[in-house]
Order: sequence, then structure tokens, then C-alpha cells
Amino acid sequence: MTSPSRPRVYIVGGGFAGLAAAKALAASAVEVTVVDRRNHHVFQPLLYQVATAALAPSDIASPIRTVLRRHKNTQVALAEITGVDLAQHRLIVPDGHVIYDYLILAAGATHAYFGHDDWAPIAPGLKSLEDATALRRRILLAFESAEYEGDEEARRAALTFGIVGGGPTGVELAGAIKEIAGQTIPRDYRHIDTRTTRVILFEAGERLLPPFAPAVGARAQRDLERMGVEVRLNSAVTGIRPDGIHIASQFIPMRNVFWAAGVQASSLGRSLGVPLDRAGRVIVGPDLTVPGHPEVFVVGDMAAARSADSGKPVPGVAQGGIQMGRYAGETIAGDVRGQSRAVRQPFVYRDRGSMAVIGKAKAVAQLGRWHFGGFPAWLLWGGIHIISLVGYRNRMLVSLNWLWNWLLNSRDARLIAGDARLDIQEPRSAEFIVADPPARFMLTADMKRVVEEQRLGFVATVCPDGTPNLSPKGTTAVWDDNHLIFANIRSPGTMANLRRNPHVEVNVVDPFLRKGYRFKGVASVLESGTPYERALDFYKARGSRANAIREIVMVRVESAHAIDSPAYDFGLTDDQVRARWEEHFASLRAGKTVANTATSDGQ
Ligand SMILES: Cc1cc2nc3c(=O)[nH]c(=O)nc-3n(C[C@H](O)[C@H](O)[C@H](O)COP(=O)(O)OP(=O)(O)OC[C@H]3O[C@@H](n4cnc5c(N)ncnc54)[C@H](O)[C@@H]3O)c2cc1C
Repeated sequence: MTSPSRPRVYIVGGGFAGLAAAKALAASAVEVTVVDRRNHHVFQPLLYQVATAALAPSDIASPIRTVLRRHKNTQVALAEITGVDLAQHRLIVPDGHVIYDYLILAAGATHAYFGHDDWAPIAPGLKSLEDATALRRRILLAFESAEYEGDEEARRAALTFGIVGGGPTGVELAGAIKEIAGQTIPRDYRHIDTRTTRVILFEAGERLLPPFAPAVGARAQRDLERMGVEVRLNSAVTGIRPDGIHIASQFIPMRNVFWAAGVQASSLGRSLGVPLDRAGRVIVGPDLTVPGHPEVFVVGDMAAARSADSGKPVPGVAQGGIQMGRYAGETIAGDVRGQSRAVRQPFVYRDRGSMAVIGKAKAVAQLGRWHFGGFPAWLLWGGIHIISLVGYRNRMLVSLNWLWNWLLNSRDARLIAGDARLDIQEPRSAEFIVADPPARFMLTADMKRVVEEQRLGFVATVCPDGTPNLSPKGTTAVWDDNHLIFANIRSPGTMANLRRNPHVEVNVVDPFLRKGYRFKGVASVLESGTPYERALDFYKARGSRANAIREIVMVRVESAHAIDSPAYDFGLTDDQVRARWEEHFASLRAGKTVANTATSDGQ
């Protein structure tokens, strides 16, 4: 138990910095009290995995008492500290105060909405386990709402996610949401195609991952875009409403906005009455103490500190917190051993590298001047995070969960906790819910036959809405339920546009009937290798070289109508049309390959 003759060290915060400080003091002749308003330590780098249902909250959290139970000189208090009285050495708690000999402030940071606190309830951020489970609920409820939403525009808004902030958290969230929608849950829903979910990542700056080298940000952007995430750079959000987001004069309807744009230090720093930086962090000296108070250390995300060797600011990352916390603990231990305060070594930050995950088996890593991406970066990221997790139980559970998710593409923590009311504007009728999606009924039998008879050679162009650069090249389509599926659309410009803007028009022209059909839909660009065997088999059967199929574009048909355009008039009389049909059917019956008279897809 405590001995009043030993110096009393109070550590506020059981995060990375606070725990590192407590551990550094474990063998010292001091009485340590770790005070936290929560009873658990949270491994924040994996919060986004809880928010996206890959891990359960308990997998990334550990009770602070358990973490420190072997430290005989340490006790843990569950309390919220409301202020510090530097002059009197007092730590203020709601019902009184305690006296410290040494104080280590490690209370972390919270979200910053840059003066728009009214955005907080609409665009929640990710900092605690409560935030993560709230985000998880919102993500999962969005799909539930879309499943029963009868109004098309509202359905699209429910299936549109905006993430504000292109730093590591924004990048990781965007990739994970796209992965859930595209790979984990499509087969769980009957009336929506979750693969058509739009995920838009807004970044005010000119590149993603600003703390990393430009090449790393570019790599992350490329990988995200390949997954179908729309990345909007130089896009400062100017307004957020429950029904959408404003980027300058543009309004994008969406029901789900998540905030990953800014942080500000714990308000505890303000109670010190000492200089703070713009993010509310306490400006500390070379030994991480408050000027004039060598007994008060501020560490982790609360501190504006510089590394003594380089003079560079210490980044607000876990390693920064751990190294500062350890330094503060060791410095106090040195004081207690009788070392002079006048000869304290200044704090030096050792950069151990930075990483961010993009998706399954995709990450980017920067170790000093060396950077790389893809699977090796992902493996390294996974290894380091497993090692860094607190407790053997969590390390084992997270490893097993990741293996399971990796093998089965699953995210089993998809529980909607709390209020599960759906946000629906116009419910679908019960009749509809038991029947098929409406797109099927909007397509006439004639239109569907047009697509099914693709062997006759239809010209199809796929163009993102509003973009004038129609691909002049035709391609053939295969029909699958409510989707038109194209392989290898030839124009790279069209592919790039499709990734940015998935709302498309598809023109299918039947040269024999002299009719054109225009389908409006939402396109997903899928890499080859995704489970679209039917489409791949179709193209292979048609003589396409399988390895030449690099991308498959799937268009979910939302509406369709005949095009009345002279551009599609092939100048044939009715008799000629009939004769051509007869000729083609005869060729098909005879098993001949039919010349593709009207396309230029060249597959
Ligand atoms: C979503 C997310 C992802 C991240 N990803 C990465 C990553 O991949 N890599 C990386 O290196 N860093 C990452 N970080 C940053 C990293 O987690 C932080 O830099 C680190 O947690 C800072 O440690 P800390 O000890 O200063 O604060 P925290 O870990 O935030 O701990 C602060 C503690 O103080 C307690 N507290 C706060 N106020 C009070 C009070 N008034 N009274 C009592 N207790 C209080 C809190 O409950 C908390 O336990 C991420 C952060 C977030 C939010």
C-alpha cells in the first residue's frame, strides 16, 4: 500500500503514454496512481476495425487494472480530472482534489471540427470504443435502410458514404467500408446491390496521407481507387447536413458522413494557464515539462514537443506517446535516485515508421526514406499491430479473427447495438419486398432478350453521367439478373471516369432490330479475379483470352428505355432485319461462330 514518505506520482490517462510512464516507474521508489475516466486502455489504431465490424470492442481493449496488476507501487483510480492547480500541486477531481509531488498529464486528444461543432452529431469521429460501436451501428443501419427504401434517390443517399479527411484514419475507414459493401455483405441482401455503394473520401489538401512521403499518398490513392473508392482531393468540406455534404457550391446527397479530419488536445491543457499551440497542445520544454514546473510533465497527444536532435515536432502517434511516457517515467525515477534536475537529458524521438492499411492484403508503409506498399506492407502492419496489442488474449483473438476474416471474407462483429430504427423516406410495399427488385420489371422482355442475345453483336457504350467523352468503342454485354456486365472496356478514360462517377448510361444497340436501348445504372468496376465466374465463363466461351480480361464492369440497371435516335438507324428494311435474324439463328443452330458485325470490341 501507499507509503506517505515516498513521492506521489499521479498519471492522468491510461492510454499509450500514461501506461508507458507507469511501466517505467514500476521499479522506482514512488507511489504511482494512474487516473482514467474509463476503466480500460484502448488500442486506437484498430478502432476502425471495430467500427467496420472486423473486430469486437473487447478485442482491442484491456482493463487498466489488469495491465498494471503486477506493479506493486501502482494503484488505479477511475475518475475524471477536471483541472490542475500548478501553484498548489493539486489535481482537481469533481468532489475535491489530491496533492501530487510529480504529475504526468497524458489525457490524449479529441476530435476538432474547426469551429463547426454543430457537425459533430451528423459526422461522428472515431476516438473511443463508444465512437466505434456508434459508427458500426450507422454503417450497418445504412444498408438496412437501403434494403427497404422505396425512393430511389433516398436509397442512393443511404448507400453513399462520405469520409472527411484523407489521413490514415480516413484512408483506413474508406477502404474498409468499400470492402464490407463489395465483398462481405452482397449476398446478405435481397433488394439492394451493396456493391454499388459509393464511398467518397474528401481531402482538403492536394494529396492523401499528408504525414507520409508524396509517393506513399499517391500509392494509397491508386489502391483505393482500384477498390472503387472515389478520392476527391482539394475538396474542403464547407457544410454538412443530415442529407448530404457541401464542397464549395457542389452538394452531394448522402446519409453517412464520418469525420477523420482533425484533432485537438484534451481540454485539461487549458486549465494549466500556460502557452498552448493551435491544436490546444501544451508547449513543453526539452524535458517535456511545463515551463517553470519541472515536476509536471505533459506527454502524448496532449504535448507540443520537439525532438532534441532534429528539432522536428513529435508526431501525434502511438510511438510518440509511448516514447514520451517512458521518458517522463524514467526522468522521475532518475530524480528520485538523486540525479540533479539540472542535468536532465532532453527528449529525443526515434521515428519507427508509419503505416496505413488500404484493404485486405493492401497497405502502405514508410520506414525512414524507404517506402513500399501492397502485401508486404500489410504483413508488416499486421505483425507490428499484433505485437503492440496489450495482453496475450487480445493478440490471440485478433490474430484468429484476422485469419478467419481473411479466409472467409467475413466480418462477424456485425451487431447493431443500441437504437436500430431505420431511416426510410418511402417504405417499399410488402408486395415488393417478397418479389424481385423493380429493375427487372422495368426491362421489357424485348430489352432483356437483346442483352441475352449478345452473340449477335450489339454495340454498347458505357459513359459516366454528364461526361461527354463517350467511349466510341463498342463492347458486348452479358446479362446477369439486374446487371449488365462488360469486360475490358477499351477506353482508359472511360474506366477512370467510371471509377470516379459510378452513375452511368449504357447504350445497347441491336443492329438487327434497328433499336437502341438506354440503361441507366450504377457501375462497379471490378478487378478480374472477383467472383464473377459467370461473366468470365461467358467471355472465355466467346473466345476471349481469359488473361486478357483485366477488369469487369458491372452495371446495376436502375431504369431502361428505348432510345429514339437516328444515330442508331442502320438503314435496314423490316424484311432485311427479319432475314438477318433468320440467318443468325440458322448459324447458331449449325454451331458456327457468328461474325460480330456491329461491334469493334475486338475481344
Ligand atoms: C482512430 C485512430 C487511429 C489511429 N491510428 C494510429 C496508427 O495507426 N498508428 C499510430 O501510431 N497512431 C495512431 N493513432 C494515434 C494514437 O492512437 C495516439 O497518438 C495515441 O493514442 C496517443 O496516446 P495518448 O496516451 O497521448 O492518448 P490516448 O491513447 O488517447 O489516452 C488518453 C487517455 O486519457 C484518458 N482521459 C482523457 N481525459 C481524461 C480526464 N479528464 N480524466 C481522466 N482521464 C482522461 C482517456 O480515457 C484515455 O484513456 C490513431 C488514433 C486514432 C483516434
